[in-house]
Amino acid sequence: MGIIVQKFGGTSVGTVERIKKVAERIVVTQKRGYHPVVVVSAMGKSTDVLVDMAKQITGSPAEREMDMLLTTGEQVSIALLTMALQSLGCDAVSMTGWQAGIMTEAVHTKARITYIDRKPIERAVQAGKIVIVAGFQGITEDGEITTLGRGGSDTTAVALAAATGADLCEIYTDVDGVYTADPRIVPSARKLNRISYDEMLELANLGAGVLHPRAVECAKKYKVPLTVRSSFGVEEGTIVEEEANMEQGLLISGIAHDKNVAKITVAGLPAKVGTLSKLFSILAGQNVNVDIIIQSLNGTEKTDVSFSIDGEQVRRSLQVLANAKETLQYTSVTSEEGLAKVSIVGAGMITNPGVAADMFTYLAEANVPIKMVSTSEIKVSCVVPLENVEKAVQHLHRSFGLDVAEKAVVHSV
Ligand code: ASP
Ligand code: MG
Repeated sequence: MGIIVQKFGGTSVGTVERIKKVAERIVVTQKRGYHPVVVVSAMGKSTDVLVDMAKQITGSPAEREMDMLLTTGEQVSIALLTMALQSLGCDAVSMTGWQAGIMTEAVHTKARITYIDRKPIERAVQAGKIVIVAGFQGITEDGEITTLGRGGSDTTAVALAAATGADLCEIYTDVDGVYTADPRIVPSARKLNRISYDEMLELANLGAGVLHPRAVECAKKYKVPLTVRSSFGVEEGTIVEEEANMEQGLLISGIAHDKNVAKITVAGLPAKVGTLSKLFSILAGQNVNVDIIIQSLNGTEKTDVSFSIDGEQVRRSLQVLANAKETLQYTSVTSEEGLAKVSIVGAGMITNPGVAADMFTYLAEANVPIKMVSTSEIKVSCVVPLENVEKAVQHLHRSFGLDVAEKAVVHSV
């Protein structure tokens, strides 16, 4: 048998006791005949603790130093896990991202992996060693230490699976898979046995914290067989794979929601070519991440533009717009907070134009007003009042038949 990449998140290695349990699980994997290559995150909330310490020193720490600081978290876990394996009599070796040949672009705090030199891991595997690699870190051509962005260990795992031609990449986490909806809101939410890369990508981007979106992108690109499962139980988890292998006929896989959305309306912009380009270039230039955009004509000369953003970005957006009033020549800016976004995701939607209509009908039944809408081939999102979002998720889950269907998805933030 070949290589299996197993990734254990922060909770799974949160204490010394848990690290010992993880070591036992890796031994079982090895006994099944695989060569385990293991990726770990920093213990528990230790990355947050490090971030917090930096903040106590300065409000704007240098990004290079943040990478230097945060990469230490994963080094703690690889060393301890390797010791735990050694004390079980296993031949194991820890590797930092750079020792494992993980090369990244020269960007601090959110670098992308450019390539992976397979040799260090291959050599260790051939020597019969279990390899424990630090997640979320790499090195540039110039020898600078980088990180891949928060939650990036998933990406390390998938990229290593792709580079080493692993048979499987297993992501061990504190939930037992991908759910049809957040079980805290929908008690009847069910774990999906399977989900396609595309659906998972939508869900991850919609805030389903269970997988890092870039990890899903990478898995799709290199066709890495991926499983999300619990590090505490023995259940099978959720398999993320190509659409073709999946059950047919089901429209909706899951319902995602995001409870922190705001809407900004810029009214009375000149209705001429280039207005939108100017507006959104200014916002993008100031790192305001815009989601849904709606434009409506206001007479013949003017146009109103509304867009949704993360609730955290309201002040920043208003500031940016106020500073650009002369350039943009709008008449007024208003903001609406206390909104949420509810989305249905499903590969079956592409060929079924009635799905959006059904969603609107179900939301009307539940008396939930819709403020904004956006669609993609496999997703429909509606912005709704925050006080209605739980009701909306529950009603959609029931109405689309996910309470009883064999298949469904998601966790939201
Ligand atoms: N330790 C890093 C973080 O907390 C990376 C990860 O856990 O994936 O974001
Ligand atoms: Mg994670």
